[in-house]
Amino acid sequence: MDNTLFVGGIVPMTTVDYPDHISAVIFLQGCPWRCVYCHNPHLQSILPTESLPWEDILELLKERICFIEAVVLSGGEPLAQNALPMAIADLKRMGYLIGLHTAGSVPSMLARVIPLVNWIGFDVKHLFSEYHLITGVKNSGEIARKSLEMVISSNVDFEVRITLHSSLETPLLMDLFRELADMGVKIIALQKCRDKNEFAVEHPIFSDRLVLEDVSKYFDNFYIR
Ligand code: SF4
Repeated sequence: MDNTLFVGGIVPMTTVDYPDHISAVIFLQGCPWRCVYCHNPHLQSILPTESLPWEDILELLKERICFIEAVVLSGGEPLAQNALPMAIADLKRMGYLIGLHTAGSVPSMLARVIPLVNWIGFDVKHLFSEYHLITGVKNSGEIARKSLEMVISSNVDFEVRITLHSSLETPLLMDLFRELADMGVKIIALQKCRDKNEFAVEHPIFSDRLVLEDVSKYFDNFYIR
């Protein structure tokens, strides 16, 4: 098995990527999907010549160990890399809490790393039957559902994040909220979609107080970023 980790970048310190803890975020290369609103398209392919050496990342994190409590693996799609369990093991040996940002596109890798992580931010793209409208991949909804079910039935803390693309109209969004609540999701974060110039695109739900109040009844914690 290839044990090289392909790293696209690192944010050495952030307060917003792991709940209640200062963290570093490592962006891994590679993703099997092609979401219409992807903000890291440069990370969709694995480009070995542009990868940062893993040893350098570990060295940087050793220097920061007094300031950072958690390391979040993000992407791209972290589950797309065979070396992910090795990387998590390296970080756990250093004493870090481990966060994972994922869309669940590789359930077999998710099953391997769930016992190793402390928190998951899980991206849900659309109604599972309509996933292809966002990802461009025919069976991506079935795959995402399987992964989310795995997360829900684990003991790992998690939140579901939804980026409000214009194709996710309010009635569809309400159906999605009901579906997620029925599956057992307790925490939802809604994220504004950004256009190609990085301007936030307003979704009608943000100005519909009654709908927002209704949605908040489905979940223990519901917030907007
Ligand atoms: S799953 Fe994430 S990284 Fe992959 S294409 Fe979609 S938004 Fe981009």
